[in-house]
Amino acid sequence: MIEENKAQKVGFVSLGCPKALVDSERILTQLSIEGYEITPHYEDAGIVIVNTCGFIDSAKAESLDAIGEAISENGRVLVTGCMGKGEDAKRIQELHPSVIGVTGPAAYEEVLGEVRRALPTVHEHNPIIDLVPDQGIKLTPRHYAYLKISEGCNHRCRFCIIPSLRGDLVSRPIGDVMTEAEGLVNSGVRELLVISQDTSAYGVDLKYKTDFWGGRPLKTNLYTLAEQLGELGIWIRFHYVYPYPHVDSLIPLMASGKVLPYLDIPLQHGSPSVLRRMKRPAAAEKTLDRISQWRKMCPEITLRSTFIVGYPGETEAEFQELLTFLEEAHLDRVGCFKYSPVAGAAANELPNPVPEEVKAERWERFMATQQEISSAKLHTKIGQRIEVLIDSVDENGAIGRSKGDAPEIDGVVHLPGANTLNPGDWVAGEVTASDDYDLWLG
Ligand code: SF4
Repeated sequence: MIEENKAQKVGFVSLGCPKALVDSERILTQLSIEGYEITPHYEDAGIVIVNTCGFIDSAKAESLDAIGEAISENGRVLVTGCMGKGEDAKRIQELHPSVIGVTGPAAYEEVLGEVRRALPTVHEHNPIIDLVPDQGIKLTPRHYAYLKISEGCNHRCRFCIIPSLRGDLVSRPIGDVMTEAEGLVNSGVRELLVISQDTSAYGVDLKYKTDFWGGRPLKTNLYTLAEQLGELGIWIRFHYVYPYPHVDSLIPLMASGKVLPYLDIPLQHGSPSVLRRMKRPAAAEKTLDRISQWRKMCPEITLRSTFIVGYPGETEAEFQELLTFLEEAHLDRVGCFKYSPVAGAAANELPNPVPEEVKAERWERFMATQQEISSAKLHTKIGQRIEVLIDSVDENGAIGRSKGDAPEIDGVVHLPGANTLNPGDWVAGEVTASDDYDLWLG
């Protein structure tokens, strides 16, 4: 039985070369994105991961010692890294039969799977406020990675408990973020997904202070971050960006191809009165103006958003306002969730909860409206030449994503017969067909 106060803390021992260190960093990043805390103390950890090195005998001996120490100090140990395969893996299991699991180098997905199984997160997944898809992060294929730039949030939206769980916004200095991004690119990552609870607020808490990267002074703010990430020569995609005026400065970077022409803006509703009751940070009318300005500056921009239907007190008229907003905004990709109370959220106190059958009926109407919009928008891409990043390949062909598709939440591009490609390849081709969510290249 795991004690309550250990439930989300993971200990980590990282041994070996810089490549092993990048693996450790990737595992640690993904764990923290999924809500785990990293602790430097054996006694606080619900599980300890040892990333081993098997390069030479003395490194192997050091790894075995580290495993032994973690077992005697904590007892719940997961082994990964270069000693986690072949004869070395057998030796570990013989010497330390109590280890929970042994995986090889760069086995990110297996390690995360073991941690999730051995140490389930206390916090239930909430699609509206969580940063990662509800199935968790699939790290295979390995050519994309999430880059978390801050923790916490200064807003107090009534349906959300992030500020009480994680506190106010704490941005990572830009030098840290750039060093991590550069390491990921060096390890083969072709696309970085920039995430945080409020990406547009990046640096506010640090008063946009100057930090250093590669000896150069850089301001910790969203524009500088986008500009610098844009120099890395890979796809850079921004998520959770609120439509504040300063976000306009990113659009020229998108139009010039420095960062992907894609913005994920969590709008949650289109009715000003519902947004007020939610205590949301941006107003619906200004959002429509902003969106049309962005489209003028960068016509190829893909806009994604998420919405909540059935928020307490939502009237039929307010829901109609949401549908009208949707028709006017003409967003490319949209997710919709039926409101469900989260323990500890202020919205639970609001009067007039919407009955479940009304929520379900509104969700259907919302989805039908949006489906028509996104399907018509995808249809206009037929005949266009697009660039695709390949995610997976089998004997029937390849599946990839265009610049307008974020992994796991948007559509995909099918390339039938293209079975000689590899995950992580970039290819270009003409769109020959589309359906409600996906595209086909001929
Ligand atoms: S902006 Fe609102 S919904 Fe998003 S994390 Fe902050 S409080 Fe939660």
